[in-house]
Amino acid sequence: MHYILTKDFPRHVGEEVTIKGWLYNKRSSGPIAFLEIRDGYRWTQAVAAKASLSPDVWERVEKVTQESAVEITGTVAKHPKKDNVFELQVKDLKILQLSENYPIALKDHGPDFLLENRHLWLRSKRQWAILKIRDAIITAMNQYLHQEDFIKVDSPIFTPNACEGTSTLFAVPYFDLGSAYLSQSGQLYIEAAIASVGRCYDFGPVFRAEKSKTKRHLTEFWMMDAEAAFFDHEDNIRVQEGLVRHIVRYCLEHCQEEFTILERNVESLKKVDAPFTRYTYEEAIIKLNQNGSDIKFGEDLGNDDEGILTKDSVVPVFIEKWPKSIKPFYMKTDPTNPERVFNDDLIAPENGGEIIGGSQREESVDILIERIKNEGLNMADYEWYLDTRRFGGVPHSGFGLGLERVVRWISGTEHIRECITFPRTIGRLKP
Ligand code: ATP
Ligand code: MN
Repeated sequence: MHYILTKDFPRHVGEEVTIKGWLYNKRSSGPIAFLEIRDGYRWTQAVAAKASLSPDVWERVEKVTQESAVEITGTVAKHPKKDNVFELQVKDLKILQLSENYPIALKDHGPDFLLENRHLWLRSKRQWAILKIRDAIITAMNQYLHQEDFIKVDSPIFTPNACEGTSTLFAVPYFDLGSAYLSQSGQLYIEAAIASVGRCYDFGPVFRAEKSKTKRHLTEFWMMDAEAAFFDHEDNIRVQEGLVRHIVRYCLEHCQEEFTILERNVESLKKVDAPFTRYTYEEAIIKLNQNGSDIKFGEDLGNDDEGILTKDSVVPVFIEKWPKSIKPFYMKTDPTNPERVFNDDLIAPENGGEIIGGSQREESVDILIERIKNEGLNMADYEWYLDTRRFGGVPHSGFGLGLERVVRWISGTEHIRECITFPRTIGRLKP
């Protein structure tokens, strides 16, 4: 390798090195130019002094434009005033590609313009920080799940049937077999896999033809579904709590620079520790009605309701044991109250919204058959799923975590469209 990464500068102070990257910004004051270079790892200042450069190098320093690709050779130096900041004293600069009329200026642009130029917008400090936090969350998630003996098995994206209600399915023509549907969640498939591997998870894109134009909904997002044999509702809550706590800790430890760029106040994140707040659905409705919401028993929580319920909590809030009537067929009926199910939604504080939906699963074939019928689903599509109960069915539980929801909350980003590299929403399919 004949170049180094700027993050490794502390190990190279006083040495002559070469870096490769892009010119983020340039300021000149007479015979000195300050080049801000992005190499993917840091933003680093390269200082070019006319007096110490050959005329052709200085000419290129003057010529180089925003977002040109460059290769720079120079000496690594400690910043004269700031601790832990390093810069490069330029000896040579090569322009690998000269960028002309880069459309995104270093000022505010409207969201439509930026989304239209998402392929370039990703280069901004803010988007860099969000991408890095996203990656940290994924790393932490994989780490925690393996630590808890879950293995990654994955599930198909082309599916013959629905998991989360038939109204939000994307259909695709599928050879002579009619329509396939893009997966809304891999849950049903990993439920089958637990009888092989005990505890498992999948992580991949899921698709929902959501008509909701909110700051929390995408039509394509990444979901992690986890499932564990012999876990009841309480065990389920415990893993979700542990997972979220681990993710937050990991980000606090690894993403300081990213949080600084985003001006994300992390004091609140530092308080995210177990146990999380818990309300039953019934308690939640009472609390909501006392706090000005006109929600009625049997209705789903709205965004404002989630806000009211998390307002006084520094930790995420579980809303558990919902009415059976508004929840999917696979959730386990509470034997002490057959009108409700053993499920939970986990709502993040600071307007994070719902980040996880989970439940203990129904293991009774008879109850499942009845519920599949009541929901008007096609029984034949679910025969394979019923087999998982017929042959060694056991109590089991699981949950689905929406990655971009977690990224949005932890990074403190207002709109979920910034939490995925190329967002897909009702009105956007490009770039
Ligand atoms: P919401 O009520 O917020 O629409 P949901 O109840 O439809 O969520 P689930 O079906 O339980 O959500 O999906 C599991 C998780 O996937 C949610 O907790 C959330 O984190 C995420 N999620 C659901 N729908 C979307 C979406 N359209 N865009 C991004 N993430 C989503
Ligand atoms: Mn939804």
